Amino acid sequence: MFEGYAGTSDSGFRDEVEAEEALARGQYLADMSTNGDRPALTGPAGAEAETRLAAFARHTVFEGQVVTDEARLRRIVARHDPHLYPGTFLTCVYNPDRALCRTPSGPADRPVMADCQPLACRNAAFTPTNRHALERHLAALDTALADSERLAPYVRHRLEDQRRETVAYLTRHTPESAS
Ligand code: SF4
Repeated sequence: MFEGYAGTSDSGFRDEVEAEEALARGQYLADMSTNGDRPALTGPAGAEAETRLAAFARHTVFEGQVVTDEARLRRIVARHDPHLYPGTFLTCVYNPDRALCRTPSGPADRPVMADCQPLACRNAAFTPTNRHALERHLAALDTALADSERLAPYVRHRLEDQRRETVAYLTRHTPESAS
């Protein structure tokens, strides 16, 4: 009986956390979808991100104003979730069929951001902020490699590979008009 109660309590808490995350994501995306001054998202799924944001804006904007009422926004996200997930290094444009973070035992309806492979997944899109985070990551790799004599060969090779991949990726997905 106690186990059953504890299980219900846990899943209730998890549901609450997920509901709050969905609301915060909805508010962020609603603002983003109505910001005509922001640069377009880039990357393999950049165009799809823009399409989803435009579709979301059709539900979140009335008479030029973004919906701010929380209960209403919760309903809109529940019915018209664009399945865009903002992260530090990328914005995930979730499509389960091509998600590299998806496993048979994991969730199918949302990404596992902790297992993200931002440089390899076709669901990746980038805001300027994401791109700056990748550039900072590249700078950190450079700093670590500057003292490479102190690194174990295995670690050095891994960092060099990461650096090479990051440079290639940033070059491949340079925005047409950087801000
Ligand atoms: S690997 Fe990253 S970009 Fe790809 S679906 Fe998962 S979280 Fe999204």
